[in-house]
Amino acid sequence: NRRFLLIRRPHGTPQPEDFRLETKAIPTAPEGGMVIRNHFISLDPAQRGWMDDAPSYMPPITLGEPVRATTVGIVHESRLPGFVPGQWVLGLNAIEDYSVVLPGGFTSAIDIAIVDRPSRYLSAVGAVGMTAYFGLLEAGQARAGETLVVTGAAGAVGSMVGQIGKIQGMRVIGIAGGPEKCRRLIEDYGFDAAIDYKGKSVAALSADIATAAPGGVDVLFENVGGDVMDAVLLNLALHARIVLCGLISEYNAPDKVGIRNLWQIIVKQATIHGFLIAGYVDRFAEGGAQVAQWIGEGRLRVDEDIQHGIEHSYDAFMRLFSGANTGKLVLQIA
Ligand code: NDP
Repeated sequence: NRRFLLIRRPHGTPQPEDFRLETKAIPTAPEGGMVIRNHFISLDPAQRGWMDDAPSYMPPITLGEPVRATTVGIVHESRLPGFVPGQWVLGLNAIEDYSVVLPGGFTSAIDIAIVDRPSRYLSAVGAVGMTAYFGLLEAGQARAGETLVVTGAAGAVGSMVGQIGKIQGMRVIGIAGGPEKCRRLIEDYGFDAAIDYKGKSVAALSADIATAAPGGVDVLFENVGGDVMDAVLLNLALHARIVLCGLISEYNAPDKVGIRNLWQIIVKQATIHGFLIAGYVDRFAEGGAQVAQWIGEGRLRVDEDIQHGIEHSYDAFMRLFSGANTGKLVLQIA
C-alpha cells in the first residue's frame, strides 16, 4: 500500500521535500468498516489549504498522514453493511492505494453505468461540476441576458461555469492564462470573449474587461482572487453578484495581499456570496442529473486531465499552480 504522506507544512509553494511516498502492508477491514482500492484521485486546489495549519472548514492534514483527497475506488474487503467487494465507491480518503473506511465516513456507492468513465464522479457529476452548477445558478442567481465573468475560466470549475452560463442565455467572458487557453475558451467551450491575464497590470486587465463588457459585469464567478479579481471589481454593474468560489492566486502566497478594490462593492451595491460546495451535498443527485443531461445533449463539454502513477503525485498536483492542467486534474493510480 503506497501512501503519499505530508511530512512538513509547505511555506508558500509546496516543495517535493514536504512529502514522502511510503509503502506499507495492505490494511484489513476493521469491525464495521471496509477497505477500498483507490483508482482515481482528485487533485484539487483545496488540498493546498488543507496542508496549512490555519482555521478552515476542515482540520489540517496531520503531519505524517497521507494527503487527504476525494477518491473513486472499488471495495476491496467489507465488514460494512451495504457495501460488497467489487462495488465502485466515492469518498473522502487520501492519496494512497488502499483506504480504510470507518463507519460513519463520507463514502457512498456510485453507479458507473451512467457515466463514460468512473473519474466523472470527480469532475462532471462530482464536486467540481456541482460547484459550477450550484455556484452559478443558486449562489450567483444567474439570469438570461446578463453578463458573466468567470476567472480561472479554462479550469475544471471555470470551464463548466462558462458553459452553464451560455446554456442560461448569458453573455460569458472568461479570464485565463495564455493564448492557448483563451483559444479553447472560445472554440471548445463557446465563451463569447476570452481575456489573457498573464503579464497584465490591474489597469490593463480592467481596460480589457471594460471592452468585453461595456455594460458592466452582472455576475462574477471568482476562482482566482488577487489582481485578477481586483480588475473585475473595477467593472461591476449596479447590484452585481459575486460568487466567491476560490482564491487560487493566494494559496501559495506566504503573505496574503488581499483585495484592494473592495470599495467597488459599496459603489455598485454588490453582493459577495462565499460559496462552499459542502453546503450542497444533499442536492448532488439533482445537479448531477441536469449536468449529465446537458452532456448527453452535447451542450456541455467536460475535460479531464488524467495523470498516471502515485509516484508522480507531487508533479501532478503542481500542475494546478503552473496552469498546466487542461480540465479536471485526476491522478489514476490503478
Ligand atoms: P482548475 O482546473 O481551475 O486549475 C487551477 C487553475 O488555476 C490553473 O489551471 C491556472 O489556470 C489557475 N491558476 C493557478 N495559479 C494561479 C494564479 N496564481 N493566478 C491566476 N490563476 C492561477 O482547478 P479547479 O477547477 O479544481 O478549481 C478552481 C477554483 O475553484 C479554485 O480556486 C478552487 O479552490 C475553487 N473551488 C472551490 C470550491 C468551493 O466549494 N468553494 C469547490 C471546488 C473548487 P491559468 O492557466 O488560467 O492560470
